[in-house]
Amino acid sequence: MAQKHYKTNGVWPAAIGFITLAATYGGAIGAVLTDQTLAMAIGWTFLSLKGTMLLATLLGIMRRPQLGWKLFRGRYTFDHKHPRRAAVQAFTRFWWELPQLWLGYMVSQWRNMFGQIDRVETVGGVTFAIEDGRNDGMCKGLSLGSSVNIWLTDHIEGDFQTYVRNGAAQMLMHEFGHTLDSMRLGWGYLIVVGIPSLLSQMVETALHGRHYRHSRLYAERWANKHAQHYFGIRMRDLETDRSDNH
Ligand SMILES: [Zn+2]
Repeated sequence: MAQKHYKTNGVWPAAIGFITLAATYGGAIGAVLTDQTLAMAIGWTFLSLKGTMLLATLLGIMRRPQLGWKLFRGRYTFDHKHPRRAAVQAFTRFWWELPQLWLGYMVSQWRNMFGQIDRVETVGGVTFAIEDGRNDGMCKGLSLGSSVNIWLTDHIEGDFQTYVRNGAAQMLMHEFGHTLDSMRLGWGYLIVVGIPSLLSQMVETALHGRHYRHSRLYAERWANKHAQHYFGIRMRDLETDRSDNH
């Protein structure tokens, strides 16, 4: 019975994703064909974003087929374990979260083209483009919609899900937490979370962690709260962890 439920659940998000994507394309093409400047601008913006993503996909797959394909497939992968969340992802991803998804995806395929990622993993419908084993101490995450870029000093070995829960100062769970705010805030994500978070991180780096803690920023606390709720794990109190910079 549970098995049957699980299978049925996968169909709905896929159908919602398909309908949303088709409606968005239809709307964009329709808008381009009107004679209203604003509608045309919106239509062309959407089509340009999709067009550049397609170009990045083709180049990425030509250079590194397996990882390039996995990145592409990630855009159409939703949360298999939580059907309701998957349905929301399927509904919001292709238009409501498009600006950050575009940015994140372009960064991922760009890194892939230049051989800068080692693995691509999808957790809960979120795609992680990861470079691990860096020897310059750089340990960072950039969460943009369902596209998360990760730079790690750790070497990831064994099961990825286990690593997410236990590795690298809970950073991947934290970045996952940001993706829930992307779903909530849509086009506002970059202004409310993305840019303040980036600036806050720069301030912390400039002050060498003295007098200012990036992890205290509201957006960072939101991400931890979401991650804690989703993974059912108590997120470590990042305020006591000096090495945190994400
Ligand atoms: Zn963060």
